[in-house]
Amino acid sequence: MNEMIVALIRLQEMDKEREAARLGISQVAACREDLAVRRAEVAAAQENSKKFLVEAQVQRKNLEIEIEAKDQAVRKHGSELNNVKSNDAYKALISEIEAAKKEKVILEDQVLVLMESIEALQKEAKASEGEAQKARLEMEGRERALDAEEAEINAKAAAQKIARDSFAAGLPADVRSRYEAIQRGRPGYAAVVPVNAMVCGGCRTGLTPNLVNQVMKGKEIVTCESCSRILYIVPKPVEPAVSSPAPLPDGTAPAASVGIDSPSH
Ligand SMILES: [Zn+2]
Repeated sequence: MNEMIVALIRLQEMDKEREAARLGISQVAACREDLAVRRAEVAAAQENSKKFLVEAQVQRKNLEIEIEAKDQAVRKHGSELNNVKSNDAYKALISEIEAAKKEKVILEDQVLVLMESIEALQKEAKASEGEAQKARLEMEGRERALDAEEAEINAKAAAQKIARDSFAAGLPADVRSRYEAIQRGRPGYAAVVPVNAMVCGGCRTGLTPNLVNQVMKGKEIVTCESCSRILYIVPKPVEPAVSSPAPLPDGTAPAASVGIDSPSH
């Protein structure tokens, strides 16, 4: 194969490694976004469970104020009883006192119900706090792992860039610029592709026998007429060496055979 093609395939491999690093960094960024969403969810769940508890406590406080008002009414009407002049006024006061007492009992029942739900909400808030704490610890661990992963990818990418640029600088300027003109700043783009059964490995367009012939000769850089990618022929794999034949049954060595790796001149 043309040695420039070999070098360009190597350069392409280096570019693909850089692209892999870039994808790795964007995956890390996506994981960070997921973490931020999760963190907000955990905070919101915790906030909600606290909010319900506070609401129930406020409601209880209000009921207690109402109960106190009923008590005051009972006391007030009780003292007024001493000053009433008529039987009707007396009866009216007694009925108000009875009504206030009944209302107080209803309010006290409501407080009891509320106290049960406050207890349940307190348990929930505590459990939610525990879960949130656990989730936060997990997320902090994940964050540190992402930091480490990102730092590792960045360090590797920096080394890859130095290696790539120095390798590219060693190529003839016209070869390099031809490759880069096809790649156009897309490190993941295959600019050098194999010919597979007379078809361009990049755009799958059929190639003329004449063009394939030029590629096979390997004397110059040949590009696909359809997609402009640089073409090459994958060399046939080296056939495995023929193992030396086993000795004949009478113990004598078999007649020497001509190995494929040692053509007789
Ligand atoms: Zn093509």
